[in-house]
Amino acid sequence: MALMLYDTMAREKRLFEPQDPKRVTMYVCGPTVYNYAHIGNARPAVVFDVLFRLLRHIYGEKEVVYARNITDIDDKIIKAHQETGVPISEITATYAEIYRADMGAVGVLKPTLEPTATGHIAEMQTLISGLMEAGAAYAAEGHVLFDISAYDAYGQLSGVDQDAMLAGARVEVAPYKKNPSDFVLWKPSAEDEPGWEAPAAWGFEGRGRPGWHLECSAMIASNLGTTIDIHGGGHDLRFPHHENEIAQSACVHNGAPLARYWMHNGFLQMGTEKMSKSLGNIKTVHQLLEQWPGEALRWALLSAKYREPLEWTDELVAQSKSSLDRIYRILLRSQDIPADRELGEGDFESFLDTLSDDLNTPAAFSRIFETVTALSSLLDEYEKNKSAPLKQAIAAHKGVLMMAGDVLGLFREAPEAWFKSGLNIDPGEIDRLLAARADARANKDFATADKIRDDLLAQGVVIEDAPEGATWRRA
Ligand code: AMP
Ligand code: ZN
Repeated sequence: MALMLYDTMAREKRLFEPQDPKRVTMYVCGPTVYNYAHIGNARPAVVFDVLFRLLRHIYGEKEVVYARNITDIDDKIIKAHQETGVPISEITATYAEIYRADMGAVGVLKPTLEPTATGHIAEMQTLISGLMEAGAAYAAEGHVLFDISAYDAYGQLSGVDQDAMLAGARVEVAPYKKNPSDFVLWKPSAEDEPGWEAPAAWGFEGRGRPGWHLECSAMIASNLGTTIDIHGGGHDLRFPHHENEIAQSACVHNGAPLARYWMHNGFLQMGTEKMSKSLGNIKTVHQLLEQWPGEALRWALLSAKYREPLEWTDELVAQSKSSLDRIYRILLRSQDIPADRELGEGDFESFLDTLSDDLNTPAAFSRIFETVTALSSLLDEYEKNKSAPLKQAIAAHKGVLMMAGDVLGLFREAPEAWFKSGLNIDPGEIDRLLAARADARANKDFATADKIRDDLLAQGVVIEDAPEGATWRRA
């Protein structure tokens, strides 16, 4: 089996060959923890989780080192603190925990390492000092800036040229910059902002904090090494974030490249727009998990090729849920025949070939349905004639299904539990009943209101009253 990965830098699919098959390294830019993650944020987590699982399958579990960081120092976090009065460490600890729980619910394995930005301030300062010594960074008005002219290859990953960057006003123009594209490595902190003392060698005094791009470069160098195998993230991170990581890391490491393969997932969209907090068109993973099993969300996220845009709709999740229902029905029907992974090995290898073509999950799903269809006819026959060869064929096909599930992070539930956790009532019907209950309460008809609540509860739906109106969740 050959693993082919689309490398954003090379702009083509390349055969994946790790530097050291005994230590395959991957880094994916993780969340800034000040808020609930939306389902778009879950896309990179799920996509790179599939890659992590596939790499572990190929090279061995202990041989793959996957780091996904937590950005726990950032202006948006400081703003959340200023608005709510909640201490920063409490905000970041709370949302990091929610992130872990939400990603766990959509089947994402814990990465091998989860470095935090605040845990690597010393490494970031060392990196800055190295860049200053190399003549690639300079201090100005309490800031340290990266000097873009020190890195000739700047812009190679995303293909943006510097004029276009300026025209797009994506870079902040400031009087103390030598070149408008120079970016911040370190900036001063006000009295009420978190900060760390600048090292004496930088030639100025005062508290400051790192820029976001620097964090990843420092965490990669100290946790994974100078040059890693795979660096991933969402499409939006190519520029400026990844360009800046590349420039900083190369300049402090004598030109050694930061990563050998660059991978970027496409956007999850609402209609034609990217789902994003700033556009306000988000659905949080937390909200969605109240209505849907985590596996249905995961299936939906993997239903398109990872590089392509994916439009998020209720129908997409409903279809994903019913695809899984079909698979779990087969697993339930064949419950008495245990899966035989060894017998399924041959077909599983061919499934892996499909997936290994740049993580072609839609094609992998088609292969799964072929197996399900075959299983279904085998079970029809077996129910008429309980022969040993039929039983063996069923065990082999189930083996393929379970191994495919392991590498995709699916089919992890017991079939009975899957069907019990599903709702038998349509969410539209629930909304209609909630409105009827609100009317009843407005008319002081509490008997009717209570009856609606009890009837819904009997169907596994819990109503929660809030000042803005009632909402519901699965019991
Ligand atoms: P952020 O919290 O915005 O830095 O995003 C965290 C991760 O989610 C990054 O890898 C982003 O590229 C990715 N991301 C954010 N929005 C989307 C989206 N709508 N679709 C896919 N990936 C996204
Ligand atoms: Zn990063």
